[in-house]
Amino acid sequence: MTLHKLSIKQLADGLRGKQFSARELTQHYLGRIAAHDKDLNSFITVTPERALAQADAADAVLAQGDGATLTGIPLAQKDIFCTTGVRTSCGSKMLDQFVAPYDATIVQKLDAAGMVMLGKANMDEFAMGSSNETSYYGPVKNPWDVTRVPGGSSGGSVASVAAGLAPIATATDTGGSIRQPAALTNLTGIKPTYGRVSRYGMIAFASSLDQAGVVARSAEDAAYVLQAMSGFDPKDSTSIERPVDDLVSGLNQSIKGLRIGLPSEYFADGLAPGVRERIEQAIDVFKQLGATFSEVSLPNSPLSVPTYYVVAPAEASSNLARFDGVRYGHRAEGAKTLEELYKRSRGEGFGAEVQRRIMIGTYVLSHGYYDAYYLQAQKVRRLIYDDFKRAFEHVDLVLGPTATDVAFKLGAKTDDPVAMYLNDIYTIAANLAGIPAMSLSCGFVEGLPVGLQLMGNFFDEARMLNAAHQYQQATDFHTQWPKEFES
Ligand code: GLN
Repeated sequence: MTLHKLSIKQLADGLRGKQFSARELTQHYLGRIAAHDKDLNSFITVTPERALAQADAADAVLAQGDGATLTGIPLAQKDIFCTTGVRTSCGSKMLDQFVAPYDATIVQKLDAAGMVMLGKANMDEFAMGSSNETSYYGPVKNPWDVTRVPGGSSGGSVASVAAGLAPIATATDTGGSIRQPAALTNLTGIKPTYGRVSRYGMIAFASSLDQAGVVARSAEDAAYVLQAMSGFDPKDSTSIERPVDDLVSGLNQSIKGLRIGLPSEYFADGLAPGVRERIEQAIDVFKQLGATFSEVSLPNSPLSVPTYYVVAPAEASSNLARFDGVRYGHRAEGAKTLEELYKRSRGEGFGAEVQRRIMIGTYVLSHGYYDAYYLQAQKVRRLIYDDFKRAFEHVDLVLGPTATDVAFKLGAKTDDPVAMYLNDIYTIAANLAGIPAMSLSCGFVEGLPVGLQLMGNFFDEARMLNAAHQYQQATDFHTQWPKEFES
């Protein structure tokens, strides 16, 4: 049996049916990581001892006939989530030696659900990037073509799942970092509503945009783990006190009559013809399943990238002020004055992209520019939110592409930050508005995966996941494997 090809549900059944133990399953994945990760670089830290101890604990629970669906199921944790006793680097030299004294809430929740952490997944430094090339630990390769990027910032999370080195992984999305890499690697990735999943213990990039979620091989797999991660957390002041819908049992609803909106702005110039074609074919599938389509307008969409690149760096510059070599992070040696210590520690600890964001952020927040940039951006952010509010008066979901094109070559955009920033042109608006959004695979162009994006109204994760699941019941794109990593 090829264990890494099984779904979460099949793995859970196999564990319960004693076809394999959690230890065997964990060893299978650790073996695959040892065999394949040198080609992908998807993990920053692998934690075999912790994993096997968790697996044994899961086996003990299972032997009693106890445990939940996720008991004994392995996963990769993005290295942005604090893990007690295990390095949490956030992809940065700044935190290369940082071992968190506590667990992120989602780590705690998934541990409590019985999941087995295989290790910490590679990522762009402080989650800033769209290609996983800003990581201090080197770029991650796309399993579909190792000369190409896997997307970012959750590049390690997606590469590990796409190559079968982990059944599922956590990820975070500030402007597209769950959805764009999922699109580029044939996965299903979901960013829930802002406030649905706790940010406690998740290293902050832009706090008003950051949201945790999962990348998985299907909507069904994603539903199981997102369910376990979600819910109110008194330790996160932006966490929302509202019951979590049953995402898994919500999966088998007909989508007959589901109203889907197509934003004209998402199908304008700049969308690769091959991607457009795959999206149009997907629309036909949704129609056959009974969904109805209408055009919606999100007129402020063209402003989402510039708005984001004011708001996100502003918040980042403030969040990253804590890494000063005194309280946290890398400390330069031999500094003579406090100022020199700050300058050198931050200059050595942060990579180029992070420094660029800090400079933009401090600039737009500075006296004299605050009104012209930051305040303006906040106003445009409201207009973007209003666009969605209007759209959701007429439709249940909005559908469009996730990314403008398939995965690009490693190095192709590293010298051009603006070209890199434009990767997220379709994904950023959902973060600015706070709505849930996901990406799922809808076919290939010359052997490379194409992603389709669904966006939903606040807290409509269940409806979105069900629509994705219905589509995946009718198609088999999500079951395709990158050949080199299949067996
Ligand atoms: N690519 C975007 C950025 O570089 C979004 C990253 C993210 O969602 N974390 O900021």
